[in-house]
Amino acid sequence: METKTIKTERASVLKPKPDSATLKFGATFTDHMFLMNHTDGIGWHDPRIVPYGPIALEPSSMVFHYAQEVFEGLKAYRRADGGVQLFRPWDNVRRLNRSCARLCIPQLDEELALKGIEQLVQIDEGWVPSAPQTSLYIRPFVIATDPAVGVHASHTYLFCIIACPVGSYYPAGMNPVSIYVESEDVRAVKGGTGDAKTGGNYAASLRAGERAEQSGYSQVLWLDGVHRKYIEEVGAMNVLFKINGEIVTPPLGGSILPGITRQSCLDLLKSWELPVSERPITVDELFAAAENGALEEAWGSGTAAVISPIGELCWNKKKVSINGGEIGPVTQRLYDTLTGIQWGSIPDPFGWTLTL
Ligand SMILES: *Cc1c(COP(=O)(O)O)cnc(C)c1O
Repeated sequence: METKTIKTERASVLKPKPDSATLKFGATFTDHMFLMNHTDGIGWHDPRIVPYGPIALEPSSMVFHYAQEVFEGLKAYRRADGGVQLFRPWDNVRRLNRSCARLCIPQLDEELALKGIEQLVQIDEGWVPSAPQTSLYIRPFVIATDPAVGVHASHTYLFCIIACPVGSYYPAGMNPVSIYVESEDVRAVKGGTGDAKTGGNYAASLRAGERAEQSGYSQVLWLDGVHRKYIEEVGAMNVLFKINGEIVTPPLGGSILPGITRQSCLDLLKSWELPVSERPITVDELFAAAENGALEEAWGSGTAAVISPIGELCWNKKKVSINGGEIGPVTQRLYDTLTGIQWGSIPDPFGWTLTL
């Protein structure tokens, strides 16, 4: 089919690649990017890979004013044998479309979106770093481009995929973080956009994150926006706890982002025959469990960090330590198994990886 062919214009000058050992997160982008336009009446058209560079947009472009925007985040991993693989990319393109539906953005052809990701990684394959725990972070996103400041869904869109090599999330080793329970700001409410990956959710969460950082905490633990007592997420990650031998995580009720790492944790835990439950957890229950010793482990999950152990929680001036501030055994096993499958150093019995 004509519209499914991705045209490629190669960069005439290739950029120097950053040193794999000193990579930062999200600072240098590869030589190419994927673009595709949408116009009402035509649909998505002109899928193409072009040299990475600025895109021209009218200042009136709707995305700047009404934040009609969605994005994704996934990684390409260099295996020890030199090959490159993606981790559950099908789930990212499916989620991108679900986010699009929430933001009134036209549905993408998921096969074509995945092909765009694959071909971009292939053309910039030399940018997939090989130092331990490094990867190529891939950022697909869609923006509303109508040059008009009237509130309605845009009639034109741009789908773009960019990629940047990223270093180990834990250059000094994985260390448990301190988390502040946020009781003023909320990230999302049911019926809002909390379960869509859209920039506005991030903009709304910045203030709480900054305040937590100023008080010496890495991130906030978000509570639900209605009762202000049910735990939702940690920073921009999903959150899981081990309480009395059972792994518990809040259910996806509309205000929580359905993380692919979260789902992978649940899938692995079930395959290990550990008790897992998706159920509401109140902050009172959590602190009571911490105080009577039932809270054994806590960690965040997301593509960037994979697993982020939580060593300490603070809520209304009350501080509790989890597992003596050390990484717990389930947390460590999940990290080792997930990263092992992602970098291809252990077998993938789930069919999660896509070799390029
Ligand atoms: C992306 C994201 C996550 C994690 O999702 P993954 O698919 O595991 O990377 C969790 N919470 C929020 C708010 C997110 O935006």
